[in-house]
Amino acid sequence: MPNDQSPPKPVQARRLNCLLTVRQAVRLTPNMIRVTFTSPELAELSPDCAGGHCKIMLPDPGQSAEEFSNGYGDGKKPVTRTYTIRHARPEACELDIDFVAHGDEGPASAWAEYAKPGDVLGFAGPGSPKLTAQDADFYLIAADMSALPVAAASLEALPKEARGVAIFEITTEADRQIIDAPEGIDQHWLIHRNPHQSSNAQVARIEGLDFPKGRICTMIAGETGVVRSLRVFLRGEKALSRRDVYASGYWRIGLAEDAHQKVKREETEADEAAIARTSGER
Ligand SMILES: Cc1cc2nc3c(=O)[nH]c(=O)nc-3n(C[C@H](O)[C@H](O)[C@H](O)COP(=O)(O)OP(=O)(O)OC[C@H]3O[C@@H](n4cnc5c(N)ncnc54)[C@H](O)[C@@H]3O)c2cc1C
Repeated sequence: MPNDQSPPKPVQARRLNCLLTVRQAVRLTPNMIRVTFTSPELAELSPDCAGGHCKIMLPDPGQSAEEFSNGYGDGKKPVTRTYTIRHARPEACELDIDFVAHGDEGPASAWAEYAKPGDVLGFAGPGSPKLTAQDADFYLIAADMSALPVAAASLEALPKEARGVAIFEITTEADRQIIDAPEGIDQHWLIHRNPHQSSNAQVARIEGLDFPKGRICTMIAGETGVVRSLRVFLRGEKALSRRDVYASGYWRIGLAEDAHQKVKREETEADEAAIARTSGER
């Protein structure tokens, strides 16, 4: 029977709400852009907030840094998107965010594509890191390109003796990144060339795993269709406890973030209700 304890309440880090200025933007891999931001307020971040999410507020296309800065905080609602703090360097008043370059149809992706030193955006965060258990017997990590930042930060924060499997799905072989993960984490890199088409490769790989006995904790994020299939498998068939399963849809094929966020919570609750019903019938 799954243990239906809800995930533990995250520890609330000090939250900032400020304007960030681009220090540099580099093409990390063919489909990933790393933007380094600076602001005096970043001195207040904790260095271990890497892996926590944040909200970014984007200038309108063509709006100058000055116009946006003047309007920011005046009640006008700019386009807002959710990202992950990949690294925080409070001593240098800097943080990095890695943006998937998925084309011009998304305002955030388009913004990152043309980001240059001196550009600005609004920032609210950080949220709490997603994988906080330090004592699991086995860790299962699954991430597509959008969740590489949270997966990498989570793996880098694990104890050196941690064991487990990480299954990444990236767009090209050259999108592979070097992650300073514990040696006992077996890394697999799958290629899926067209992220706009659904992929079953991560699900198939995870369903085929030999699950060890003991406490298993997960950090799973990416395209919502894949994440939902994995949640149902891990919570239902494998009966992992809810508090040990982080499985979160980060985007959805064909939907912009606002529309995705509206349906995401309802779908998660519907999946959990179905899992509870099925496990009660067994
Ligand atoms: C907690 C959390 C943390 C996240 N962290 C990161 C992060 O660190 N880096 C990151 O890149 N993303 C991250 N994401 C995902 C990001 O919020 C979405 O990809 C978001 O939709 C991007 O906004 P946009 O303006 O570029 O596109 P939107 O306007 O939201 O969408 C426009 C179109 O682009 C498509 N699309 C959106 N994302 C992708 C994608 N990754 N690949 C292919 N097509 C896509 C949509 O299906 C839609 O058709 C995170 C999401 C969450 C919930």
